[in-house]
Amino acid sequence: MVSIGTPGSTSAKRVMLLGSGELGKEVAIELQRLGCEVIAVDRYPHAPAMQVAHKAHVINMLDEKALYDLIRAESPDLVVPEIEAIATEALLTVEKEGTTVVPTARAANLTMNRRGIRELVASELGVRTSPYRFVESLDELVEAVNEVGLPCVVKPVMSSSGKGQSTIKAEADIANAWNYALEGTRGGADSLIVEGFVNFDYEITLLTVRHAGGVSFCEPIGHRQEAGDYRESWQPQPITESVLAECQSIATGVSDALGGFGLFGMEFFIQGDTVYFSEVSPRPHDTGLVTLISQNLSEFQLHVRAILGLPIPLIQQYGPSASCPILVRGESAAVEFSDIELALLEPHTDIRLFGKPEVRGSRRMGVVVTRRDSVEDARAAALQLSDRVQVGPPSDVSRV
Ligand code: AMP
Repeated sequence: MVSIGTPGSTSAKRVMLLGSGELGKEVAIELQRLGCEVIAVDRYPHAPAMQVAHKAHVINMLDEKALYDLIRAESPDLVVPEIEAIATEALLTVEKEGTTVVPTARAANLTMNRRGIRELVASELGVRTSPYRFVESLDELVEAVNEVGLPCVVKPVMSSSGKGQSTIKAEADIANAWNYALEGTRGGADSLIVEGFVNFDYEITLLTVRHAGGVSFCEPIGHRQEAGDYRESWQPQPITESVLAECQSIATGVSDALGGFGLFGMEFFIQGDTVYFSEVSPRPHDTGLVTLISQNLSEFQLHVRAILGLPIPLIQQYGPSASCPILVRGESAAVEFSDIELALLEPHTDIRLFGKPEVRGSRRMGVVVTRRDSVEDARAAALQLSDRVQVGPPSDVSRV
C-alpha cells in the first residue's frame, strides 16, 4: 500500500528532482497535485521546476561529492533525475545506502553516456542499432569512418539536444566533425560515437511505463529533429502493427534490463519494416510534451504515478495531436511573450511558457500543443500558432 504524508511534516513523501527544466517542472506540478514535498535541484537559480517546488538548491550536479552531500542532507524518499548530466556515481552510492533512485541508479548511470546504453542494448540484448564505433582521437575517427561507411553521424558520448552532433558526408568533413564534437561534449569526456547514418522513413518515441501493474505503452510519437533538437512532435504516428509490436517488444526488453519504476522514452528509427533502436531516456522525453493534450494521463502524470507505486489502469489517446516548441534566440533576462491569445483562441489548443530566467544563444522557452481531426492539421496548427508567438524586447531577442 502506498502512503503519502503531509508536506513539511515528518510524514512527508519527499521527492528530489535532479534537473529543474521544463520537463521537471511538469513532474513537480504532478507531484504537488498528489501532495508530495518537492525539492528541486539545478545548476542555476529560478529554474522552471524550482518555481513550483517547496525547496530549491543550486549545485553542480556533475560534482559527485556535492551531489552526495546534498542527497544525504535532504534525505529524500525518492531521487528523480531529469537530465543526463549528473554524477551518477553518487546515485549508485545513495541507492546502496537505501535511497530509491528513479528508475534505478544503474539506469541513470548507463544512459548518461551513449557507450553504456549502446553496449547494453546492442551487445548484451542483441537489438538492431545503426553500426557504430567509439573513438577517442582524430586518427581513430578516420579509421571508424572507414569501417562504418559514409554518411555517418558523429556525437559526443555525453551530450544532449544535438550539441556537438554532425553528419560526415565526405572525408573532407572529418576534421570539422571532430572539432565540433569536442566543443559540444559535456562532463569533460572526449570520447565520441560514430554511427552509420540510418536513412529512416520516420523516427518515433515510444513512451513506455514500468509501473506496479506491469508495462504500458503510449501511442507512438513521431517527431522531426533539426541539428539533433526536436522541432515538432505528433501522436499517433501511423505505423504497421508488426513494426509497433517489434518496437514494444524491444522497449519491454530494454526497460526490463534497466529496471525500476517510471516512464522511459524509447527512440527508434523505422526504415520499411526494419526497426533500429536509437536511444532511451529513463524519464519523460521532450517529444512527449504532446501528451499534455493528447492523452488522459500526460507522460508527466504517468511518470509520477509509476514512481510513487500508484496504479495506471488506462492510457487513453484522445486523437491526432501535435506539439511545437517556442524557440527564442538572443540575450535577455526579461523576455516577454505576446500574441499568445492567437493560440488560445482556438479550441483544443494549449500553451506552456516555461518561465526560464534567461536566454543566451538559443533556448526552448515554451511549447504549443494542439489536437485536431488529423495529424496533418494538428501539426500545421501547432507550427503556425507557435510561429505567431512574438517575443521581445525586439532589440534583445527574436524567434528562431
Ligand atoms: P540523438 O541525440 O542520438 O537522439 O540524435 C538526435 C537526432 O539525430 C535523432 O533523433 C535523429 O533524427 C538524428 N540521428 C541521430 N543518429 C542518427 C543516425 N545514426 N542516422 C540517422 N539519423 C540520426
